[in-house]
Amino acid sequence: MAATLGYAEPIDSEFEDDPFPSKVGGKPRWLDPTCPLEADRVICDECSKPMVLLMQLSAPEDDPPEAFHRMLYVFICHNGICHKAGAKRCMRVFRSQLPEENAVYMENNIDAANENDVEWVMAEGVVRAPVCVVCGLSGNKACSKCHKRRYCSRSHQIADWDAGHKAQCCGDVPMKPESAEHHRKLQRMVYPEHIIVSEEEPACGESDEDDDGEDTENINPESLAVVPVTNERVEDSEVEVDPAFMKFQKRIQKNPDQILRYARTPESNETAEPLFVSDSDQPKADDISKCANCGATREFEFQVMPQMINYLSIDSVDPNSIDWGTLLVYTCSRNCSSSSTGYIEEIVCRQQFSSHGIGQKYMRAYYGDETAFTKQFDSLDI
Ligand SMILES: [Zn+2]
Ligand SMILES: [Zn+2]
Ligand SMILES: [Zn+2]
Ligand SMILES: [Zn+2]
Repeated sequence: MAATLGYAEPIDSEFEDDPFPSKVGGKPRWLDPTCPLEADRVICDECSKPMVLLMQLSAPEDDPPEAFHRMLYVFICHNGICHKAGAKRCMRVFRSQLPEENAVYMENNIDAANENDVEWVMAEGVVRAPVCVVCGLSGNKACSKCHKRRYCSRSHQIADWDAGHKAQCCGDVPMKPESAEHHRKLQRMVYPEHIIVSEEEPACGESDEDDDGEDTENINPESLAVVPVTNERVEDSEVEVDPAFMKFQKRIQKNPDQILRYARTPESNETAEPLFVSDSDQPKADDISKCANCGATREFEFQVMPQMINYLSIDSVDPNSIDWGTLLVYTCSRNCSSSSTGYIEEIVCRQQFSSHGIGQKYMRAYYGDETAFTKQFDSLDI
């Protein structure tokens, strides 16, 4: 069962008008802009500040009709130190849905000859709710002096004040435009924006069939470790073999720029298996609780790959920078309606590269340390 792969590309002119974008970074583009997510649902348990958008993914479903428009949002804390704690404390996933008939969007320019050529535009009279100028979450707080700048939280109000609103705020008279420096500082408080484009993972060629079998333990680690290693390191890798990492490595090197793997297929009920980065620390049944909204089981839907970190403009030398092997997202198998609560929280699990398996040995041999490995994954050449 093949996964659909996601790749990051620069934003283009069409992106601005896309009401349902799949993207990395920037501010969230809410499926229902009359109802943005409130900051109190994404407060980091470590630093008590609102998390920012890592990515959003448009993943519509035919069943049930309430999932006709369907968007998934992943938020993470911007502060790398918080990521030393468990993923539950510094990461959140939310799902938002709308049926085909809804008050927010209407169809436009339908080509009668081509049913699929549908363009969605905002319906007349829809009023966007105010959002935070820093992060795009619900802006239900305002600057107490000018009452014009909107914020999700006190921490983002302070951040904007220091970034330039102090010089811009004029009380009752019209506000001065944002200076270029102010604008740049605000942009650095969220991740750089990229479009996510998708492509089905090419089927494995005949010669590669073993890659996907369960018999990965039969692979000789030395045949993979063609990097220059000292005798001592080869010895190490013979002792410590992590079959999951080896499978991961072989799968990734065919499409090394993938930032996302999406498991569902619209035409079938089958889903692709997660590609784990290690044998240890895989999510267990207990980690995947049932949907809190409807009680259905949650199933694996997509995973964020370590290559996405390359697009976040993170200082890779900083030992406290954000890092992961993979982020695994599990969602309600029934796509239950979000209309009563607006946003349904789903589950994200983080798996790190093994700290004792061949993964780390390989990384050390090749790059000196494992942090550098994830930052430079796409230069991997074995
Ligand atoms: Zn934090
Ligand atoms: Zn904010
Ligand atoms: Zn103000
Ligand atoms: Zn549910």
